[in-house]
Amino acid sequence: MRYAALEAYVPGEQPRDKAYIKLNTNESPYPPSPEVIASVNAAAMEELRLYSDPTCRLLRRKIADRCGVSEENVFLSNGSDDILNFAFMAFGEKGAVFPDITYGFYSVFAALHGVPTRVMPLREDFTVDPADYLTGGRLTVLANPNAPTGLALPLPEIERIVAADPDRVVVIDEAYVDFGAESALSLLPRYDNLLIVRTFSKSRSMAGARLGFALADKALIDDLEKIKYSTNPYNINRLTQLAGAAAIDSDEYFAGNCRRICRTRERTTASLKELGFTVLPSMANFVFASSDQIGGEELYRRLKERGILVRHFDKDRIREYNRITIGSEDEMDRLIAAVKSILS
Ligand SMILES: *Cc1c(COP(=O)(O)O)cnc(C)c1O
Repeated sequence: MRYAALEAYVPGEQPRDKAYIKLNTNESPYPPSPEVIASVNAAAMEELRLYSDPTCRLLRRKIADRCGVSEENVFLSNGSDDILNFAFMAFGEKGAVFPDITYGFYSVFAALHGVPTRVMPLREDFTVDPADYLTGGRLTVLANPNAPTGLALPLPEIERIVAADPDRVVVIDEAYVDFGAESALSLLPRYDNLLIVRTFSKSRSMAGARLGFALADKALIDDLEKIKYSTNPYNINRLTQLAGAAAIDSDEYFAGNCRRICRTRERTTASLKELGFTVLPSMANFVFASSDQIGGEELYRRLKERGILVRHFDKDRIREYNRITIGSEDEMDRLIAAVKSILS
């Protein structure tokens, strides 16, 4: 087959052999809002005989209002992975550039679409050096905050990158922006090469609904629409559209969850540091941590034996680290207790 040499993305494991404390795929420990749960009712089910609205009119208007942009500046798709895929397809003709340590899907999309990539090493401390992204004319893709580090780039640095070359598209993947980093949204009116990608999967507790959106100048949105209409115009089902609209209406509820998760993150960071861990200062719903008392892979394995899943990447530079999703307070207490007992 044409893609025989392609190395597919490997999602975080979802084992079914027993009930784990799942701290490995950055899902929310809290359920969606009551409004979201109520939106998917029997009447909505009956309507499933009809195709979903390919324009996502209601949801698009709500997102536009919420973000202070026009409806023509909003694109919706089946999870933000779908949008990132389309972006590589649409804007990768001159190649792409992204950091060596970042979301693993970027290199997969590049390979899938035959986009030549330039991979820029993060600095020694895992921060992005904006100077690496000022030239080259290539599609530029940065997660902000970055994954799996959790480190965020301040807005002026993002602007420097976006402003450096108006002829190439800069994708800012804001999957984790609701946990404390600064969004690039305020730059949108001034830069028509900026594409902001967001998801309902993390801060809005809807990973299983598959919903992501992008914000950009109309010309970029139109390009993405063209690809969507050339593949699957109905790629957001009716139930997800309803749930998404209800989620935008319950912003307060989700903001409360984010504040709670940020507090738990600070507490977890402090506890891990007390146990001698190096913990990067995270602006996301996870922390990236290593210990000089135990290897990254060994810690991952021994936590799994105790029913706690975290994410380990067997990759140069980060092999000694684990990415630990911030769960509920109780889950993090159990994580810390397990780490203590493993180290003793
Ligand atoms: C989780 C994640 C996504 C994918 O989100 P979906 O909307 O669930 O597809 C995209 N980018 C980054 C950096 C992520 O961590």
